[in-house]
Amino acid sequence: MQFELEDWQVSATESLRRYLSAEVAPIVEAYEDEHRLPPPEVIRKMHDFGLLGGLLKQADGGAGLDYVTYCTLLAELSRVWPSLRSIITVSNLALMILAERGTDAQRQRYLNALVKGEKLAFFALTEPNVGSDASHVETRAVETDDGWLLNGRKLYISNGPAADLGIVFARTGEKNGRPAVSALIVEKGMPGFTSVRVRSMGMNCCPLGELLFDDVLVPKENLVGERGAAFEIAKHYLNLGRCFVSFVCLGLSQAAFDAAVRYAGERHQFGRPIGQFQLVQQMIADMMTWLETSRLLSYRAAAALDRQHADGARYCSMAKRHNSEAVLRVCETALQVHGGAGYTRDFPVERFYRDARHLTIAEGTNQIQALLLAQSVLGLSALRG
Ligand SMILES: Cc1cc2nc3c(=O)[nH]c(=O)nc-3n(C[C@H](O)[C@H](O)[C@H](O)COP(=O)(O)OP(=O)(O)OC[C@H]3O[C@@H](n4cnc5c(N)ncnc54)[C@H](O)[C@@H]3O)c2cc1C
Repeated sequence: MQFELEDWQVSATESLRRYLSAEVAPIVEAYEDEHRLPPPEVIRKMHDFGLLGGLLKQADGGAGLDYVTYCTLLAELSRVWPSLRSIITVSNLALMILAERGTDAQRQRYLNALVKGEKLAFFALTEPNVGSDASHVETRAVETDDGWLLNGRKLYISNGPAADLGIVFARTGEKNGRPAVSALIVEKGMPGFTSVRVRSMGMNCCPLGELLFDDVLVPKENLVGERGAAFEIAKHYLNLGRCFVSFVCLGLSQAAFDAAVRYAGERHQFGRPIGQFQLVQQMIADMMTWLETSRLLSYRAAAALDRQHADGARYCSMAKRHNSEAVLRVCETALQVHGGAGYTRDFPVERFYRDARHLTIAEGTNQIQALLLAQSVLGLSALRG
């Protein structure tokens, strides 16, 4: 069993790290304070490192990366700027849907600008009344002679207020007594489509929003995949999203751990560095162990996706659930190592905690992951049949 990355994967990660530390790290705090969208050139640069579209085939403008490589890069980005990574992964997920499930015309129309980071996209499933019970969306699209008439609301949509277009999951009928869900491409500027920003606890630079659709006429050709079959699409890409989230947790855990180790060496009390006290050492040891279990589970999930392992979904759920809880413990402990300084805006650990807090919720809450995991061995579902 091999636990090392290949040389080319290490060098791709180092090259991203060099760029992030030279060009990005110095601007993060100021942008976070001002809740600003990252500079367009930084977003576009993510394409050069494979973070936008990198998983796509070269014919589609991608780099043909495997999941292990893509996710390693993602963890590196998460270490430096979680808001930027959220913007990038959400847009990347939407562009993957278009590349893999879209028509040739849709790919031609939208893909190039999304892959290059010239445009951003959203993925809109959640609604005010529909969160964990995601298959029961209430937003409706009715087919008319002129196109799909879309009405409803979506909530907590990352990139929502800033994106140029996105994929909206809407109910287009019923099938076997269950909602038939279809995916539609909706563009900014379509009459009747508006968005408002939702204020959140962290990730200040990734705009979270509510989307409102009031008789939006969406062209017929904007249907992605088969009519009524889009919940399967949502589930497939949410599963990939869970693997990505597990690496986001890994990157953030690494950042918080590194900050704690640094501080434990620099801060003196009782005439000694605090890192010399056994109780501080215990905190460091705990963080190291949570970090390492996170690393093992997230790479297990990415490797399972690369090998199309039959249990891939299970590994993604497990990694997402474990790592999103571990990152909170790591950030919390790193904050404790900093003492009062950790509670201030003068050190980044309080932001790490805020930026990590949503990870047990987004991409399917950890309670839902627990139910999916138990169902996968028991064969019994706690959810709707
Ligand atoms: C920062 C952030 C970004 C997001 N980005 C997006 C996005 O880009 N696109 C998108 O579509 N959505 C997005 N979401 C929404 C996210 O997917 C939902 O918040 C999540 O699925 C939970 O839904 P909910 O908030 O409605 O909670 P609810 O489903 O109302 O759950 C509330 C609580 O009840 C628990 N619960 C619910 N049902 C059960 C059950 N059967 N058994 C046990 N416990 C249960 C949940 O675990 C949770 O603790 C984002 C959320 C956040 C916080």
